[in-house]
Amino acid sequence: MEVLDLVIVGAGPAGITAAIYAKRANINFALYEKNFVGGNVVNAYEIENYPGYAKINGADLAVQFNSNLTELNIDVNYDEITKISKNDGCFALETAYSGTIYAKKVLLALGTKSRKLGLPKEDQFMGRGISTCATCDGNFYKGKDVLVVGGGNSAVSESFYLANICNKVYIMTRHELKADKKEIDKIKNFKNIEVIEFKSINELHGDKKIEGVTLIDTNTKELSELKVDGIFLYVGQVPPTDFLKDLDILNKYGFIEVNEKFETKVDGIFAIGDCISKNVRQIVTAVGDAATAIHFINE
Ligand SMILES: Cc1cc2nc3c(=O)[nH]c(=O)nc-3n(C[C@H](O)[C@H](O)[C@H](O)COP(=O)(O)OP(=O)(O)OC[C@H]3O[C@@H](n4cnc5c(N)ncnc54)[C@H](O)[C@@H]3O)c2cc1C
Repeated sequence: MEVLDLVIVGAGPAGITAAIYAKRANINFALYEKNFVGGNVVNAYEIENYPGYAKINGADLAVQFNSNLTELNIDVNYDEITKISKNDGCFALETAYSGTIYAKKVLLALGTKSRKLGLPKEDQFMGRGISTCATCDGNFYKGKDVLVVGGGNSAVSESFYLANICNKVYIMTRHELKADKKEIDKIKNFKNIEVIEFKSINELHGDKKIEGVTLIDTNTKELSELKVDGIFLYVGQVPPTDFLKDLDILNKYGFIEVNEKFETKVDGIFAIGDCISKNVRQIVTAVGDAATAIHFINE
């Protein structure tokens, strides 16, 4: 039975950076990713706050990240880690497809996934009228009307991408827009974007695909109808950490609790990036966490 020094789970910015630093430190490790290299970066239309690039499309940055891995001969194992347990002085990590792997240490770089609205029929329409990625699915709505749900930076900036493709883009938020002023100011450059504040979706309409929604005013509770062909959700992110519940390392929101060395309370399990309990979830903080964590993992 081979026991690796380290398994890194997740190949978003945090996991990729950890792999780069681990390789350079000559650690015997493996990198696991259940979807694609780049993580949530792939979902970002324009990134304007990552040093070295005045502005870069998220998918393009993910390609650059991937070339870092190729350059250093780091393999990505495309599989999901489904369970982690202690096993005779090391950890056993069960995978979805390739059996169990063993490691002395584990670094969790799981990131987050999009929060859903919790509406009836939402799961049925996911991928068939409801999307969480404008850059991935926007082209399906060429010349059509779409509703972007959310009021933060992601909702507003992804609307700009959609406005270049769609006939009409509604940005709807339960409160007021909370995005940075710089982003809000750009909305006026798009004649086909309309902001709807203090409303939320009460009901989804359609049979095989989305045909419209009933909105509810969050103050007056008044109902209104809106015809749209697609809905893009930017209502926050949740950590994909259900499979870690038995380890008792999560806070009440499902984020992983760590100390300043990125250690969890289970000796040998570390966590970094968006999946940990922290204040700022960005690419720069994810990559910073990774460099520091590998320093302490290699101590
Ligand atoms: C629409 C959008 C726009 C954004 N725009 C910006 C921006 O402009 N600037 C900025 O700095 N940040 C932006 N962000 C935030 C940024 O993408 C994140 O902060 C960053 O990606 C976090 O990196 P991470 O590696 O921690 O997590 P992620 O990027 O989420 O990567 C985690 C990876 O782990 C994998 N994974 C999860 N669980 C498992 C498992 N059990 N087994 C195997 N693999 C697993 C996932 O598939 C994923 O690839 C944006 C986010 C979104 C959603």
